[in-house]
Amino acid sequence: MLRRAVAVELEVSKELNKLLCSVEEVYKRIVREVVEYAVKNNVTSANKLHGLFYSKYRQEYPNLNSQLIIQAIRQASQIAKSFMERRRMGLMSKPYPEVRSVSIRFVETTWNYEEFVGSIAPVRIAISPISTGRGVSGRFEVWLRPHKRFWLFWWRVLNGEAELASTLLIKRRANKWYAIFIFKLKPREEEPESIIAFDINENTVAVGRIDIKTTVSKVVDWNRQYTTPQLYTIKTDFGRLARRYERIRSTIIERLKPEFALPNGNYVNITNTREFRKRVRKLRERVRKVGRVRQVANELTKTPAIIITEELGDNPQESMIEDVMKDELRHRIKQIPFKNIEEAVEDKALERGSKLFHVSSYRNSKVCPIHFTKLKMADDWHILKCPLGHYVDRDYASVMNMNWKLTPEAWTKGVWWNMKREMNWREYEEKSNPIIPHGIVTLLQHIMENAKASLEKSPAVLARGKPMNPTGEANEGWARAPPRPLGRGGGQKEY
Ligand SMILES: [Zn+2]
Repeated sequence: MLRRAVAVELEVSKELNKLLCSVEEVYKRIVREVVEYAVKNNVTSANKLHGLFYSKYRQEYPNLNSQLIIQAIRQASQIAKSFMERRRMGLMSKPYPEVRSVSIRFVETTWNYEEFVGSIAPVRIAISPISTGRGVSGRFEVWLRPHKRFWLFWWRVLNGEAELASTLLIKRRANKWYAIFIFKLKPREEEPESIIAFDINENTVAVGRIDIKTTVSKVVDWNRQYTTPQLYTIKTDFGRLARRYERIRSTIIERLKPEFALPNGNYVNITNTREFRKRVRKLRERVRKVGRVRQVANELTKTPAIIITEELGDNPQESMIEDVMKDELRHRIKQIPFKNIEEAVEDKALERGSKLFHVSSYRNSKVCPIHFTKLKMADDWHILKCPLGHYVDRDYASVMNMNWKLTPEAWTKGVWWNMKREMNWREYEEKSNPIIPHGIVTLLQHIMENAKASLEKSPAVLARGKPMNPTGEANEGWARAPPRPLGRGGGQKEY
């Protein structure tokens, strides 16, 4: 089930603002204290923490709605759990998580959920943040300032395409209060229109696209020329972006150095200073990166499709930099948001009726997609040579082989499986085959055989550009250097 959070501003009176501020203060204090205890004592179970803290806070804050205490403790348990998980993976160096801001959770019984979901056009909520004793709760009505996005989701609720979660979040931001509604969307079921395989590189995402409808008719007409997958690239420039920001960061360090010089001529570690962090924040590097990730996800999910991509490990960067020695290069690879792209695509795919399939990354760019032989390095870095005498573009091999892996061909030809580790038939059968409609598998097999047959005649089209090109700009010194970008936002090139 997909979740979408929609924040709607609240029209809060002065008195209610005061009240909410004090409730927030107390709520945050509970979360902080419980998180600290949980991390220090390695106790993260929500039940245990509840047993340890509930009555203490109930006595300390008798006016707070007891449900909020329960929720604050739960929230603390979740924060502590995810912090410890990240620390285990080596992503955290701080001893405790910082709880800077919290959103106050109102469960079903502490706001007018029933009434709200029963309404055709809800414009206000009623919340009970405090209790005035003897089980009577202080109930406050607040008007919403709903916007277009909220109405769009509400329309889906009315249509039965979405559900409103019963928990409401109230959050303060820049001195305004917001109600955050969580909508649970039902994934759409759509007929796939295309089969898309994609591969993430340093500065591009390589995409192989097969348009099902037109391809079916071409297959029927036996028009081989048009039945090979299209290959194009989406320019992301994550590597270039990382390098640029790296330069800017070192300039900032150089400029700040005189300010932090110690009498003995040394400098304090400038990256730890507030000044440095402030300036880096202004660069908005993350925001730009997120924007590009979304752009890729949008492009790949425009139409309902079967989307095929490589299985990424928990830490794809690490496995990729194993044999890369240069520091600068390692840094750049770490900056490529593999996981973020994958997650964004998966999320959008569900929303738009596409399905995502993972295939093993084993040998995707090392096997000739026509002859199933092992490719050798050529002079140009992203062009490989088949022992049968023709050249293959690395990206093309990669997306073609991903396609092959969904067909029965993968079972008969062992080349795509790592025999030592991955030859677990049952696992693969369960993992991939039954979920893909049989018709699609058959079609894909047809298309791939067609492509193979037509390419056997003229394998030159597999290699883009001149294979003997001196490496030049295409080789950026990294084991997975990308092809030349075909223009911003993804130019198209047909094969
Ligand atoms: Zn070949």
